[in-house]
Order: sequence, then structure tokens, then C-alpha cells
Amino acid sequence: MRKKIYAVLFCITFLTASFITVQGSDIPNPNIKQHFDLLYKQIIGPIPGEMKNDELPIRYEITPSFEVYYNEPEPVTLDDNIIALINQVDEELLLNYLENLTAFGPRVTGTSACEEAGEYIYNEFVNLGLEVRYQEWENGGFSGKNIEATMHGVDNSSNEIYIICAHYDSVSTSPGADDDGSGVAAVMASAKLMSTFLTYHTVRFVTFSGEEQGLYGSLHYVEEALENNDNIVAVLNADMIGFAETPEDASYVKIFEDEESEWLTNYTEDISQQYNDFIGIEVIPSGYSWGSDHYYFWQAGYNAIFYFEYNYNDYYHTSGDTIEHMDLNYAAKNSKLILATLAEISELTTQQSPNKPVKPNGEINGKYGEEYKYTTITTDPQNDEIFYFFDWGDGTDSGWVGPFDSGVTVEASHKWTEKGSYSIRVKA
Ligand SMILES: [Zn+2]
Repeated sequence: MRKKIYAVLFCITFLTASFITVQGSDIPNPNIKQHFDLLYKQIIGPIPGEMKNDELPIRYEITPSFEVYYNEPEPVTLDDNIIALINQVDEELLLNYLENLTAFGPRVTGTSACEEAGEYIYNEFVNLGLEVRYQEWENGGFSGKNIEATMHGVDNSSNEIYIICAHYDSVSTSPGADDDGSGVAAVMASAKLMSTFLTYHTVRFVTFSGEEQGLYGSLHYVEEALENNDNIVAVLNADMIGFAETPEDASYVKIFEDEESEWLTNYTEDISQQYNDFIGIEVIPSGYSWGSDHYYFWQAGYNAIFYFEYNYNDYYHTSGDTIEHMDLNYAAKNSKLILATLAEISELTTQQSPNKPVKPNGEINGKYGEEYKYTTITTDPQNDEIFYFFDWGDGTDSGWVGPFDSGVTVEASHKWTEKGSYSIRVKA
């Protein structure tokens, strides 16, 4: 592993914290943990790309229980901010992520290399000031963690969620540079660049493990999303987007879709055309494939597309799946396309970050079940209106509240339901 300075640059830029200790007796957690069928120990690993069969040989049934609601996306327009955003995606940025990821060795789910790679991704997300969590899963005798970073949308009337995802595990025979270091690098670069902006809708940056054993991480993620009635409008899954041998290979990307997700293929195709001068990649709609983490989103009734290299990697699942055998310029083009798609569809906005708000001011001792008020204040360099976000430390938050004028004291209140010590954080 490379010891980089990132660990030191822990980002406290947007966050300040206070603490509260809440007294009283424990209320048992009402959440029932989902357990999965452990019957299928032998599963044929998913193979990305065109499928000979049209279904995963052994699969779990997921019944869609929730209807996704969304407004038709605005027609794609060239946005200066998005051009500025994607112009920052280059070979150097991706190389840094790829070197760090491959330095752990093969990231086989359940090994310490995979665990450490997960911690690396987690810390990078935290350093960006994003809300980050591990999601643990168990299945088929395997266990692992997904990592999810969330950027809450500023439009509180929207419950739309947009996801960019990739898998950070690899097979034992491979350093997993292209499969799927390339996708993870795209997710991490997108998080880094988008976190300096705001979006109207909520965006989640997700990396899964357990993909190579049978899409276990993403299966668990989808199950939980359904349980929570998450209104996931679109999922952009990147798995193997960095291999090209000829200039022709490097000019195309394949997109796999199911019938309901066709609009999303059309949308990203539009993006590639409108932003052609800045991306330089042509979309080849390629039909159906079960071979990666988008699959269970489809099963659940969510819309998802799968970005995949035009020329299938010659070194797939071998020791030759290295950075040296990748075309980083091609990886950058695909990453730009995915990032531009995500930024347009989640409605990136330009508001520059206001100054750091003061520590939340209010009670530091209380009783559970009672409501407490906290105040904070900050200013904006451009005197723009300001949105605030309180994290109550108990897994809940205020969402973005506002807008407020610069320099005006803002109040928010919360009830804790269990005794404990909570860190209250606010960002603006
Ligand atoms: Zn893969």
C-alpha cells in the first residue's frame, strides 16, 4: 500500500461538531436484519459483456415492491460547469486511484487486501466531506462490505436518488486494474470532483464487494434499498472501462440496458454527442447483460445501465490485468461520459461553498424523547443564500434546510430516541 498524504489531509472544511449525551433506557432497535438464503454455495461468477445466456445461472428472486417516481429529465444542454468538471478528469487522476487500489494485491472478497482497499475508499470519501457508511453483507459463506458516500440534494422536495457504482473486489488470479479498478477510479474521481458542487437531487457513490462471487454486495444493497423504499431513479454501473488496443477500440463504449432503462441509454448517448468535443466517445447500445452489479437493480424494478469497454480485455481475470495493459486515456473518456451523465441528470448547481458554519450551539445534556434546538450561523463570500445540513449523530439528519440569507442565525431541532452520546455536526 502506498502511504499517501491523503490520510493527513482529513477534511474538516465543511464540518463542525458538537456533542450531546442523552440519558434514559435503551429502546431496542426495531430494524430487522435481513438474512439471505445460504443454499447456493456454488455460483458461476458473472462475466461482463455480451451474454450467451440471458440470465444469471443461479439467481435470487427479487420482487419489485416500489414504483420509481421521477420527473422526465431536462433535455441535455452543454453546461459550463459540467465542462469544467469533466475537463479535470485525466490520466493522472485515475492513475493515482489505480496505483493505490492495485497496490493491495488481488482484492478477493474476505481477504485483508479487499478489506484494506475498502478502508482506502472509505477514507477518501470521508476526506471529501461526504457522508460515508459501510454496508455489511453476508451470503453464500462469504461476507464483505459495500461503501456508500452520499451527497444530499439541495431540493428538499425531491426524493430522487442517482447512483454511480463499481465493484472494488477482484479475483485471486488478478490485480484487477481494469476489472474493476477502472470503474472504482471513475466513481472516486466523480465523488472528488462533484463534491465541490451541489446537486438538486441526491447522488450516491457506491463501491461493492462480492461481485466476483455472484453479485453479492449489490444484491444486498438492492434488498436494503427496496426495504427503505429508496427512490433510485438511475444507476450508472461501470465495470471494465479501461482497455483498448486500437484507436478504434478507444472511440467506442458499450452500454447494456434492459427494456425499462432504454431512456437512460438514450440520455447518456445524448450526453456523448452534446459533449463530444470534451469527451470524444461514441455510445454503442448493446442490449441485455446480467454480468455485473446493475443486474439486481433491474430485478428490483430500478433503471440502470452498464458501461463496458468496446474491446473485451484480453487479460480478463489473469495476472495481466494490470495498469500497464490499460489505456488510461480511454478510461478517462469513459469516466468523463459517466460523470457528465451523472452531473446532468442529478442537476449539478454552481453555488460556491459558503464559509464553515460555527459549531452547533445548544443543550449538551438531555433526555431522549425530548426536542432540543441548535443554532448555527455562517456567511457566504458572494453573499448568496445558504443551505444548512445538520447531522444528528444517530443516523438521521435534517436534510438541507434553507435557503437563508448570509449571516442569519439558523435554528434546527431534534429528538433522540435512545440514550447515548451523539455528535451533532453541521455543514453549509
Ligand atoms: Zn468486473
